[in-house]
Amino acid sequence: MFNRSRRNLASWFTLSMGSILLIFSGLLYYQEADQQLDAVDLLLYKKARVITASVQYKLYQGQKRVFLKHLPVLGINPPPADSEIIYARWYDTDGKLKRYFGQLSPKKFNRTFELKTLKITNNLGVSPQNIWIREITLPVQHKGELIGYLQMAMPMTRVQDSLNRFIILLISTVLITLVITGLAGWFLSGIAMQPIYLSYKQLERFTAHASHELRTPLAAILSNAQVGLLASMEDSASKHLRLEKVAEVAKSMNSLIGNLLFLARRTGRLTPESLKEVDLSDLLKELLNSQSVKTAAEHLNLKSDLPKTPIVLRVDAELICLAVMNLLSNACKYTPDGGMVELRLFTKFSQVVIEVEDNGIGIGAADLPHIFEQFYRVEQHRTNSTNSFGLGLAIAQQIIEAHGGHLSVKSELGKGSVFQIKLPL
Ligand code: ADP
Repeated sequence: MFNRSRRNLASWFTLSMGSILLIFSGLLYYQEADQQLDAVDLLLYKKARVITASVQYKLYQGQKRVFLKHLPVLGINPPPADSEIIYARWYDTDGKLKRYFGQLSPKKFNRTFELKTLKITNNLGVSPQNIWIREITLPVQHKGELIGYLQMAMPMTRVQDSLNRFIILLISTVLITLVITGLAGWFLSGIAMQPIYLSYKQLERFTAHASHELRTPLAAILSNAQVGLLASMEDSASKHLRLEKVAEVAKSMNSLIGNLLFLARRTGRLTPESLKEVDLSDLLKELLNSQSVKTAAEHLNLKSDLPKTPIVLRVDAELICLAVMNLLSNACKYTPDGGMVELRLFTKFSQVVIEVEDNGIGIGAADLPHIFEQFYRVEQHRTNSTNSFGLGLAIAQQIIEAHGGHLSVKSELGKGSVFQIKLPL
């Protein structure tokens, strides 16, 4: 699926770049052809002007007449070999052909100034050849009076050759650029697909873990219900016990689903609207006095070191409470009776630090790098507790990172752990 999307992305990238290149090359070619044609027209016009400059218009036997004898190309002298003129024709003011060099025109003469491109068969060489020519028809005037028309043509071979070379250059440039674009597209789409691929894999893992975790309590509910159903109608005590179990498992499922939804919904940084100025010292004091912390720590010596002066920070108070609560409940859960759990708050190097320390069972070096992963539980710590899904630390980390902070741990097996939250001031 990802390879197909990558291929599609690369092809669309190449296709769009190719289309832009083709349009651009077309415009370039058009401009070049236009420039070359302008150059030919200018040359043709200049040559025509040179010829017409030699026309003599004078009185002869009482009448004004045009004398063409001394005209280059059309006159008595043959045109130079390198003149490039295919044909030249002189028409009088009525459009009648008076003198010509080269081919005669098969078409009727049109008495207007004209520049046009024509395809003719050239019989001058060894064998007849179809060639493109540029023809000019120039009305000639003497002191403002029209005295005739000069029509002449030049071959376009040089322009064609130059345009052919230009088009070959353009095609090869476009092809090379397309190949480079294709390779760049493949490489760039690979980079673009990487985060999608990673989050897809993460989602896949998350779904697999979630369904696996949900299956266990569901099986427990089912077996309790079945055992309850097998009990006799009179045995209400057994039925009650089973229902209690079902309720307990359903409660843990509820908390698991809540956690799963939390992880699935909250990603990335928090929105500015959700942040409010909060005194963390007050917030943590309230948390320590809450019933849930008191219940969790009833078998322990719970201490706190919170500053008297307020430490005000823009945070989502509810989320910070949830993160600290997860750390506190873990500390209580993994510290044997009579142990110590301490909550500290202080500032250090423009950072606010919240620490949760316990002298409980600690975490082995091999497990430490993984404990923030979703659904990770230290194998030896796996209890029958229906509320340990390995999501508490992942949630706490997600909350702290969403605040731009950092959650870390130091722990030694058998000695205890210190979880540290650092938030920017
Ligand atoms: P759980 O719900 O299983 O406690 P967590 O994500 O909160 O999941 O913790 C992951 C694992 O890290 C736990 O299963 C436990 O093994 C270990 N752990 C977390 N906090 C402590 C602690 N304070 N002391 C010892 N082990 C801990």
